[in-house]
Amino acid sequence: MQNKADQLWHEMASEDAIDTLNANRDGLSSDEAAKRLNAYGPNCLPAPPRQHPFLRFLRQFHNILIYVLLCSAAMTAVLGHIADTCVILAVVIVNAVIGYFQEGKAEEAMDAIRHMLALKASVRREGIRRSIDGEELVPGDIVLLEAGDKVSADLRLVQVNGLQIQEAILTGESVPVKKDTDAVAPSTPLGDRVCMAYSGTLVTSGIGWGVVVATGASTELGRISGMLSTVETLTTPLLRQMDVFARWLTALILLLAAVLLVFGYVVENFAFSDMFMAVVGLSVAAIPEGLPAVLTITLAVGVQAMARRNAIVRRLPAIETIGAVSVICTDKTGTLTCNEMMAVSVVTESHVFSLDGVGYEPEGEIRLNEVAVSASEHAILDEIGRVAALCNDATLHCSDGAWAVLGDPMEGALLALSGKLGLDLTDELSGWMRTDVIPFDAKHRFMATLIHDHENHAFIAVKGAPEQIFVMCTRQRTVVGDSEVFDPGYWHEKAEDIASQGQRVLAFAVKPVPPEHTVLEFTDVEQDLVFIGMVGLIDPPRPEAIAAIAECHTAGIRVKMITGDHKGTAAAIAKQLRLQNPDKVLTGADLAGMDDSSLAAAVMETDIFARTSPEDKLRLVMALQSHGLTIAMTGDGVNDAPALKRADAGIAMGRKGSEAAKEAAELVLADDNFASIVAAVREGRTVYDNIKKVISWTLPTNAGEALTIVVALLFGMTLPITPIQILWVNLITAITLGIALAFEPTEKNTMQRPPRPRYEPILNGELAWRIIFVSLLLLGGVFGMYAYAVEQAYSVELARTIALNTLVVMEIFHLFFIRNIYGTSLKWELIVGTKVVWATIVCVTAAQFAMTYLPPLQALFATEAVPCWDGVIIVVVGVVFFAIIEIEKRLRLLLHDIRTGLLPPRS
Ligand code: ADP
Ligand code: MG
Repeated sequence: MQNKADQLWHEMASEDAIDTLNANRDGLSSDEAAKRLNAYGPNCLPAPPRQHPFLRFLRQFHNILIYVLLCSAAMTAVLGHIADTCVILAVVIVNAVIGYFQEGKAEEAMDAIRHMLALKASVRREGIRRSIDGEELVPGDIVLLEAGDKVSADLRLVQVNGLQIQEAILTGESVPVKKDTDAVAPSTPLGDRVCMAYSGTLVTSGIGWGVVVATGASTELGRISGMLSTVETLTTPLLRQMDVFARWLTALILLLAAVLLVFGYVVENFAFSDMFMAVVGLSVAAIPEGLPAVLTITLAVGVQAMARRNAIVRRLPAIETIGAVSVICTDKTGTLTCNEMMAVSVVTESHVFSLDGVGYEPEGEIRLNEVAVSASEHAILDEIGRVAALCNDATLHCSDGAWAVLGDPMEGALLALSGKLGLDLTDELSGWMRTDVIPFDAKHRFMATLIHDHENHAFIAVKGAPEQIFVMCTRQRTVVGDSEVFDPGYWHEKAEDIASQGQRVLAFAVKPVPPEHTVLEFTDVEQDLVFIGMVGLIDPPRPEAIAAIAECHTAGIRVKMITGDHKGTAAAIAKQLRLQNPDKVLTGADLAGMDDSSLAAAVMETDIFARTSPEDKLRLVMALQSHGLTIAMTGDGVNDAPALKRADAGIAMGRKGSEAAKEAAELVLADDNFASIVAAVREGRTVYDNIKKVISWTLPTNAGEALTIVVALLFGMTLPITPIQILWVNLITAITLGIALAFEPTEKNTMQRPPRPRYEPILNGELAWRIIFVSLLLLGGVFGMYAYAVEQAYSVELARTIALNTLVVMEIFHLFFIRNIYGTSLKWELIVGTKVVWATIVCVTAAQFAMTYLPPLQALFATEAVPCWDGVIIVVVGVVFFAIIEIEKRLRLLLHDIRTGLLPPRS
């Protein structure tokens, strides 16, 4: 084969391109494709180069606090305090290790997501249409495109029908380009090469197919991929805010430390080296150096938890917004329902037949008034079956006796119906040829195909929403096969009838055309169609969706169903799903008649919207947002992109969703299931809670430790804990207790609380109060125990050891307290806790015992063995501390309930 990179595909006729690539219109054989995959490699862009692990480790040292610590280490070494130098260096290294671990965790989370969002491509191989991984495409493959697809390799287009592609990623031009198949001049710039479709661009409308001319790094996208290969970092607005906060806090503390150093040295006449060590201890204690890293881990844990629940986060801020959602607007078909369809009724001009069967098996009984009949007795059934099979993009497969659909499940159900109506699917389809098509679009709600046979007959087959088809018809088919004047009244009534049973109604029509007619236009189907019948399909609600909707209601989240389906069908399904207000339905036509203010009023009282178009979705989102609500909106089609972008949390369907919808969405559901949205909300709330918990534990702890030193220095007292001991406490608790909260599971009442206000600041008055309250208690505990030890005439070393252990014990109790910020912590399952919590507590306790009782460590930290009885007192102090903060929390919760009216005050 020749070198493909040098070809100018756009100046070549499409047939020549196919020949040059040794390909053909039916596609490559599997063997050939495998061979080429071997030769050309997978169709993916080279991953951006990763930094060497060692460099990444070194980068962790690039941090102002670390510089301060390194300077201090040098200073103490010069001053001869080698033990201090070692401890400071240990702090530095542990910090770097946490940072490194955090990055690894973040990367792992992002990789998992990237893998789950891999692109699919529709190809023709060996004459059969298939869906394969985009990575498996090879030059010479025939790729089929339709609205909503992302082009997965560079293609020379061979056939197009209204194909328009948005190429902003390559050209920066956001207006879609209309595509054609004619060759263009060699010098044509990229944006004007209308006969090409380039990898990474989005099909906005129409259909077409082409032959792959370049894959992977040889595509146009691959050439500029250097510009695109930015690595996404794991962060959200909240985390960025906290990062900025931490940086300011660091600067402030360093300033304070400098002032204190001067004050202690000049005013209080402390020795410089003692003073210096004290302010270093102070800085390390006060600066929440581990906070950003731990928050990132919390987020990474959340991203992974969501992915496990089939919700893939495409844009990280979504993890915060999804937890604050107050309204979920959802599709019906496939999200609230199983999307396993079966045709159960067929309506003709004079009869209503009922059918049954198993799944997609194309066999089953047909009944008329409960009596089995044969399809051959009714010629019209044969015609309905034929139209159902010919105006259809799906295929049925049988493997091991189980029938499955490739394509739209509803169209699969229609193929099964054709089988039941007596058509031999393979025979029937090979006798007819599809010459052109108007694909289904949620905007016009019908699909039409132009069909020719070998005997020079041609007709147009149309299927779609009944109201849509009614206006196109002037005649209707009679039982004997003639046609008579169309009677809309009869059909309307029948359509309402089957819709009210929760069935999805589809109407069928045909139009004979002369055989010369080979191009299908909208004007061809607008009038003079012959109505032939309707089909009712069932699509049962997902049982898990019913439970998930109930969960939303307890969590203060409204659920609104927005569907393109019939009003009656929507209402019937809504009842089965136990949605609120199932009898109030607004249709797209109703919405069109409302101005923005009356719409804003109506959206609050209505939960079901039927026969809506994608534009209606956008209006609904804006109307809901005008009430200050946080909206999650689902979507699957190309036209849903604006609504998904506008919604606070846009959610695309991973299976039936188009790439365009996924690109616009923040979240992608791997299983298209409503229950996964609710799971994502629960995880989102958990992540937010855990972020809050990490912050609520870290800041008071740091403040308490710092305050201990500041108070002692200000009042010229002996330090109750030495700087080196503070460094130790900080080190040991930061790597253990601080991280434990990132892995906290969902609290029990998480989905019984109303959603939090979207822009609620995390550093609010309550947290400020908590910091002050807890740090004062920590201070009291430390000084109290120190005073007690001095009272007992213990040595200063022993008194310090006791004070130090008191601090750590209180921090452990504080952790237990924080684990449940919304209710009492005194519940058995909360005390039992998670493995992570207990592992960290065991580590800290072991470390404290080692430092207190092991002679080498005693020498390093200047500690002494604590008598058993004093050990008991230390734990008691911890218990008392816990009791105080727990009582304070209960009082506050009670007060809150009274204020919000949950509990009326006693009169
Ligand atoms: P939903 O909200 O149920 O997903 P859609 O927008 O997919 O609604 O469909 C709206 C209506 O369009 C359906 O009720 C049906 O009558 C019609 N319809 C859906 N899919 C097709 C199709 N493939 N061909 C023709 N008509 C369709
Ligand atoms: Mg649909």
